[in-house]
Amino acid sequence: MKKIFCTIIAVAMTISLAGCGTAPTQNSSDKLSIIGVNFPAYDFARQVAGDKAQISMLLPPASESHSYEPTPQDIIKIQECDIFIYGGGESDTWVSGVLESIDTSAKSVIKMLDCVTPVEEEIVEGMQDEEEEGESAYVPVEDGIAATEEDEEEEPEYDEHVWTNPQNVQLIARKIADELRVRDSGNADTYQKNLSDFNAELIKLDAEFEQVVASGKRKTIVFGDRFPFRYFADRYDLTYFAAFPGCSTETEASAQTVSFLIDKVKAERIPVIFHIELSNKKMATAIAEQTGAKVLELHASHNVSKADFESGKSYLDIMRTNISALKEALN
Ligand SMILES: [Zn+2]
Repeated sequence: MKKIFCTIIAVAMTISLAGCGTAPTQNSSDKLSIIGVNFPAYDFARQVAGDKAQISMLLPPASESHSYEPTPQDIIKIQECDIFIYGGGESDTWVSGVLESIDTSAKSVIKMLDCVTPVEEEIVEGMQDEEEEGESAYVPVEDGIAATEEDEEEEPEYDEHVWTNPQNVQLIARKIADELRVRDSGNADTYQKNLSDFNAELIKLDAEFEQVVASGKRKTIVFGDRFPFRYFADRYDLTYFAAFPGCSTETEASAQTVSFLIDKVKAERIPVIFHIELSNKKMATAIAEQTGAKVLELHASHNVSKADFESGKSYLDIMRTNISALKEALN
């Protein structure tokens, strides 16, 4: 916490010093520069802006998005970009402190949570709630800079994984397109066309998930892992059981949690235990060994591997792979 505070101050000073006589360094081209904090933010910008903007992701590929902390270079990049896109949930509590420390007057800031109807993180039967387990309470990184403890207590804790519902992605993409059109009216037609194309794919994806759920034998999914799919489950009317809520920092489940999930899988003859991306799969594997179920990944798109990042894998690619995984799990 202190480290980030110092980083912000140091960077703010560097930026104001650099401001004496030199204009903030823009990218070499006259293209708009966009920064997405996590993979969804980055990919949605890429789908809408195409090659008309310079787009980068702040998280290093393959890194854990929930424990990410910005480096001084990251803060400078945020300072210099034209459009900044972030989730706005628990993983991004550092953002408000950074945005308060820099000049955002000439910048578009898009918070994905604000583009949709947010829901709070949910603790369902059998799930291990970290605070009840006596873990230390979460302390926001910007404490003392932007958010006071009172603010923090009043704010409901929204589930940040809004992008797991393709209908929400349409809303986020529309907001990105609106900002692009305002900032770069010369390319407005391109942004509109890209948005329409992306929307068409999202509508198709949504219909495919609906079809898989409608034709499935069951409506229950089980995760031997964290559960970042609340918006997805709500959208397709799925019942879920999981070890931890979406952004839990816990990875080791209690014996009680594991045995609850094992019993559930046995009782309902659940064929697939899911784990999420970049997971150690330990718990899913342990449950599978006890039940004979198969272990499969349901990728929540927080981040992608280095190889997938370099090959240009998209949210749509990831979700299309999820369709076949879900099909197996529901039949
Ligand atoms: Zn998450």
